[in-house]
Amino acid sequence: MSIRKSSARKLLAATVAALCSAAFSTQAAEVALARLDCGGQPEPVSVASFSDTMEHAQLKLPLTYSCYLIRHGDRYLLWDAGNAVDGTPRAPKVSIVDQLARIKVRPEAVGFVGVSHHHADHTGQLASFPKATLLIGQGDWDMMRSAEPPAGMDAKDFATRRAPFAPWISAGAKVEPLTRDRHDVFGDGSVLMINLPGHTPGHHGLLVKLEKTGHVLLTGDVTHFHENYRSDGVPTWNANRADSLASLDRFKKLAANLKATVIIQHDPRDVAKLPVFPEFAK
Ligand SMILES: [Zn+2]
Repeated sequence: MSIRKSSARKLLAATVAALCSAAFSTQAAEVALARLDCGGQPEPVSVASFSDTMEHAQLKLPLTYSCYLIRHGDRYLLWDAGNAVDGTPRAPKVSIVDQLARIKVRPEAVGFVGVSHHHADHTGQLASFPKATLLIGQGDWDMMRSAEPPAGMDAKDFATRRAPFAPWISAGAKVEPLTRDRHDVFGDGSVLMINLPGHTPGHHGLLVKLEKTGHVLLTGDVTHFHENYRSDGVPTWNANRADSLASLDRFKKLAANLKATVIIQHDPRDVAKLPVFPEFAK
């Protein structure tokens, strides 16, 4: 055998061994999902402003704020960072950091924070995790790192909106702006950020594959309530109506094809689909 052939075979054998060991190690990683309390509206909200077709004009519904912790072996992803703990009526009483302390997870152990989008009710406690890699859609990241507010937003509101992103904008924390159809967070297909633009330019949802529960789909804000999910309702303030409808179509097809449990993050009726923290769905 020539030296070239022998080293090619060695390389092939090493590659196969590496792939096998990667497959073995990812198989061993158990994936689990917990819901964290990130606040709630003190009074039911009018559903009318969540529809740009004047649907549900008289309907009022309770609205909750959710954050999620995904455990992958001994690694963690925080999905959305809720409202800030600022004493306002919709703020959570207990911070994410203090909720995680109940299960002995330190903020430094959270390697990734993924945000569905840049709105303040999804980023309020982001800055408590400055060691984590920020996963965010490119369109939203471009807005947050820009020096100028987007059209229609005043400078003060823009500064407030950007503040939770300070570790990643100006203090060198690691950020991965996402540009593709999906992002495989842990590299084994078990936790995917799904590109669902429209609510904001870089909006994403999250697909989690659990061994016992099956697939779970977290909406971000692709929809807000069961009612407008059923009727393809689009909020008046979405960035792009056509993108919103296309994303909702994709989301519903994913849910149907995977027989996924759909969690509408703002709808309290979906909270009971997951165990009460500190229990995890597995
Ligand atoms: Zn929201």
